[in-house]
Amino acid sequence: MSGRRVETMLTDNFARRINYLRISITDRCNLRCRYCMPDGGIPLISHEEVLRYEEILRVARLFGQLGIDKIRLTGGEPLARKGALDLIRGISQIRGIGDLSLTTNGVLLGEFAADLARAGIKRINVSLDTLNREKFAYITRRDRFPEVLNGIEKALDVGLFPVKLNVVAIKGFNDDEILQFAKLTLEKPLTVRFIEFMPTGGVDFWNRDHVLTVDMIRKEIGKLGPLIPVDGDEMDGPAARFRLRGARGELGFISPISSHFCNNCNRLRLTPDGKLRACLFSDHEIDLKSHLRNHCSDKKLKDLLMTTLRNKPKRHSINTSLFRKCQRTMAAIGG
Ligand code: SAM
Ligand code: SF4
Repeated sequence: MSGRRVETMLTDNFARRINYLRISITDRCNLRCRYCMPDGGIPLISHEEVLRYEEILRVARLFGQLGIDKIRLTGGEPLARKGALDLIRGISQIRGIGDLSLTTNGVLLGEFAADLARAGIKRINVSLDTLNREKFAYITRRDRFPEVLNGIEKALDVGLFPVKLNVVAIKGFNDDEILQFAKLTLEKPLTVRFIEFMPTGGVDFWNRDHVLTVDMIRKEIGKLGPLIPVDGDEMDGPAARFRLRGARGELGFISPISSHFCNNCNRLRLTPDGKLRACLFSDHEIDLKSHLRNHCSDKKLKDLLMTTLRNKPKRHSINTSLFRKCQRTMAAIGG
């Protein structure tokens, strides 16, 4: 992968530097997490409507020229899409994209970890909300816990770094496991990140009373000792970073509900059907796919990126009377 950074810098109307594109490569998934998808799954985007790999590569290359230097592949479950490794190899060759990462539910990670490392993935996020097999089967509606644990071990074995566990914190579901998750960072070089439970489209599982705020989680972890701030050059996106004394890994706290982090938002999102979104919680989208399929010029695609930037809202409105759940499910946006 070329580590060369482009000199171009993209900024939005609020002087935020935008350099990060999350690409959801599929809306299909092998799990059915209750907070993300309904039991029967979601109405699927037809195969013809899903962006082809060469279309994604074109977007990544052009946006890379404008100042996007970080790409994360997500889904649905990205490893469930055929040929995902080819796409990863392709993106890792693009000049200017210095950081290529992946978010996965881990079910297929054991099978893919070594190839992912070879293909150019360095950092990987694995979503895991419980350390108990029965609870895993409940929350994901699938009994795949052993595969996910195996995937995490394989990711560590092949040297992917950092390996981050994303834990959606849900009161009444995993509040009794916070300490167990935090203790994992004492034993293993893992980053455990707690994410406040968010209201998202397509499911009715969210309830404000089930939100476990970052303050509550930090208070609980405080029982293990002081949380030592981690400073470093590298930002961990919206996560505040800490470490327990003597720990091999880190802790991260992401608080979209209790204190929005929009001031530092540096990201755009591309959906599986080729819509560019400026905010996770805004349904304003720009259709890149129709232009791609009409053989538009490179300049046109770059102009569409600039229009999206101009429309990036200042902040989301979860805690205001204006809040409306977005129309798409998380699986069709990519989280
Ligand atoms: N399937 C992959 C996975 O689960 O990691 C990638 C896609 S998933 C939509 C991306 C992230 O969104 C996951 O970490 C998931 O836990 C998170 N997510 C989904 N619904 C959420 C919700 N209602 N609140 C907070 N996080 C959520
Ligand atoms: Fe699938 Fe990820 Fe959504 Fe769970 S959170 S249903 S694994 S897309």
